[in-house]
Amino acid sequence: MDEKISTDGPIFVTQPFLPPLEEFVPYLDEIWKKKILTNGGPFHQQLERALCDYLGVGHIALFANGTLALVTALQSLRITGEVITTPYSFVATSHSLLWNGIKPVFVDIDPDTLNIDPGKIEAAITPQTTAVLPVHCYGRPCDTEAIQKIADSYNLRVIYDAAHAFGVTEDGRSVLNHGDLSVLSFHATKVFNTFEGGAIVCPDAKTKQRIDHLKNFGFVSEVSVAAPGINGKMSEFGAALGLLQLRYIDAVLDRRREIDAIYREDLRDVEGIRCIDTAGRGKSNYAYFPILVEREFGMSRDDLYGNLQKAGIYARRYFYPLISDFPMYRGLPSAHHENLPVARDTAAKILCLPIYPDLRPDQIRRVVNTIRNS
Ligand SMILES: *Cc1c(COP(=O)(O)O)cnc(C)c1O
Repeated sequence: MDEKISTDGPIFVTQPFLPPLEEFVPYLDEIWKKKILTNGGPFHQQLERALCDYLGVGHIALFANGTLALVTALQSLRITGEVITTPYSFVATSHSLLWNGIKPVFVDIDPDTLNIDPGKIEAAITPQTTAVLPVHCYGRPCDTEAIQKIADSYNLRVIYDAAHAFGVTEDGRSVLNHGDLSVLSFHATKVFNTFEGGAIVCPDAKTKQRIDHLKNFGFVSEVSVAAPGINGKMSEFGAALGLLQLRYIDAVLDRRREIDAIYREDLRDVEGIRCIDTAGRGKSNYAYFPILVEREFGMSRDDLYGNLQKAGIYARRYFYPLISDFPMYRGLPSAHHENLPVARDTAAKILCLPIYPDLRPDQIRRVVNTIRNS
């Protein structure tokens, strides 16, 4: 057996970025002094403002995580009936629909962008359709113009799952301003993290206020509750960490861009490995480094995945299986395999390679060499 023993410990697909611990201490001191731990405290308010500035958006409501933000975004617009979405995403995208009693309707993806194919949306619209829930997959912007056009002509809402799209811009403008709402995740595995966290980007103060009520049980004053809200609030701990992370985000994105460029250069001549363009017309955040393992590579995606694992490299098959293949979705008519050929083909070939700021050049070389020698 030719077991490749790694000499340098495992390499995971991502590793969260953490600023120096000593820089977090003053924030903790402040929390301990003021004894304000949550409920829209000073750090929470500061982070909302700082994120609006950094991202170039009008209004932000912070959340305890991205999934609660998705569930609440749908609630805030009173979305019901059927919602058109992509099967090629993290399962929370569709779960947020089920938690609202909404029927997901899966539409196939575009083979170049891996985002929902706008050309296939219209055929999926029924009298029950109320909204579209697209995902900016790997941070690559959706065809927002085409989606909005369809939404306008059928009077549908658009909520973007923008969990991958922190800091992504197109023509110098944030992609988070498209549609009715956009939802971010600040989970540990994302480009910008607050351990757990998320946010809804909203177009106006009134919408933000409604969302702020919803994330605090529906309280609109000390004694009145206007809606069946939830507890979705981000704590002062998370907000403080977010403020500190923001000081490092540009350096984090720079380093990710360098790693992305090295992979692209070093994998260029490897037959059967196709590096996905995660930017399109936009400016990428290099959140992921997805490759397609094509037939010409001479080895299946799963065999390459196994070989990498043997070398201590834990790439991930994002997104496999498709959401539409999980038990709570596969009975839906739109989950049928014939309806989703591109998503199915992509899920069988996709592999996300390790990318994170602390990934060293020798580790990148190890990943590339393991692929080359497979
Ligand atoms: C991470 C992620 C979510 C969920 O966010 P959490 O903060 O982990 O709840 C939702 N959608 C997509 C596409 C994601 O990648």
